[in-house]
Amino acid sequence: MGKDDNFSEWYNDIVEKANLSDKRYPIKGMNVWTPYGWKIMRYVDDLIRKELDATGHDEVCFPLMIPETEFKKEKEHIKGFDSEVYWVTHAGLNELDVRLVIRPTSETAMYPMFSLWVRSHTDLPLKIYQLVNTFRYETKQTRSFIRVREIHFFESHTCHATEKDAQEQVEEDLVILEKIMERLCIPYSLMVRTEWDKFPGAYYTVGLDTAMPNGRMLQIGSIHHYRTNFSIPYNITYEDTDGEHKNVHQTTYGMSERLVGAMIGVHGDDKGLILPPPVAPVQVVIIPILSKGNADAVIKKAAAIERTLKDSGIRAKLDLRDERPGSKFFDWEIKGVPLRLEIGMRDIDNNVVTFARRDSGEKGTISSDDIVPGVEMILELIRKNMYDKAWKIQKENVVSVDSVKDLPERTLRFGWCGSEECGHRFEDENDLKLLGTPYIKEGFEGKCIVCGRHTDKVAYASRSM
Ligand code: ZN
Repeated sequence: MGKDDNFSEWYNDIVEKANLSDKRYPIKGMNVWTPYGWKIMRYVDDLIRKELDATGHDEVCFPLMIPETEFKKEKEHIKGFDSEVYWVTHAGLNELDVRLVIRPTSETAMYPMFSLWVRSHTDLPLKIYQLVNTFRYETKQTRSFIRVREIHFFESHTCHATEKDAQEQVEEDLVILEKIMERLCIPYSLMVRTEWDKFPGAYYTVGLDTAMPNGRMLQIGSIHHYRTNFSIPYNITYEDTDGEHKNVHQTTYGMSERLVGAMIGVHGDDKGLILPPPVAPVQVVIIPILSKGNADAVIKKAAAIERTLKDSGIRAKLDLRDERPGSKFFDWEIKGVPLRLEIGMRDIDNNVVTFARRDSGEKGTISSDDIVPGVEMILELIRKNMYDKAWKIQKENVVSVDSVKDLPERTLRFGWCGSEECGHRFEDENDLKLLGTPYIKEGFEGKCIVCGRHTDKVAYASRSM
């Protein structure tokens, strides 16, 4: 199945063949993480933890259920989530007086506690995060990692003394984002979402989008500045140096298992998955090439190389299955292992190991004496090549247009006067989603694509996934 011919079918096929997720679980949209898929997710989680810990965030874990009374405190928030939350109405045989929401996100779980935790300006900034599953009742067609009802989720929540401090947090989030995406080799654009598309209750939302091979943009995360929109209803205040009580300014940052979906979509090819080395469960697979009379010597050498690589912290796997080498190559290519090593008698005689890169298909040899630095260098070259290539595609996917005639299936860039009326008309008449206006301002002079008025505002749109 070709990736370029039918992305949807290709995607579903890869998820199944690489055995990343099992969707036969008897609740639609709640899929089982298989060992291979879960390992990838855990390496992604590890990267997130590392960057959050390094920037002074503390990990917490909040309860899954939220009382309806807390959930309803922020009016816009409840409006935004009303139709997509799961409710717990009974405990044992008793009907509950106060129904419980299964968290769709954790603002309303955390903020009643924040109002107890934050007392003084010395408690600020408060920076916490958690990696948990959230639940949303999706009514559109579900798709592994991209649109599911139980979502593996990362969320950070911060409280600050001033709006400026909260804005600085948004900037820090963008630095964290860049570090994580470099490892996952996922390019992204930063779009300030429209007023009607921002997170319910937010002052503004920055959407993080990555281009899929079918030209559509996949939202892979978001950063929100709340100002005091939540701290007022949840009464999160601090005593300032002047003895005055003030509401905190808040931000949140969220990403999910869509990162796995994005990696599949951005990097995979017709042979299968291609995993970025930092999150590949198997970074190097070693295939012994056996011929008559030398099997023992080759297996011994291959095992020694596996041990050496493992001892250096490289995730290596020796494939000793009783299969032909070609069939082993095929299996590991589907699973996206970034680097394959082949060892035969001729390699041993020449004191080398043959390698094949999954990203470029390039082949060569590494001296057996330099196996660890050699493999580390190639893994880093693969990572860099994957990231550069993905960025190139992300940029090439953007097309500037000045009329709505014959719009290509790509990310569209055009003038927009900024009015809601023109925004809605553009979305409805062209069946497109306005991604918003660039977070990092772009110079623009032109006309609104809908009303023709002069504007210096540029907007982006694409068909949504
Ligand atoms: Zn207009």
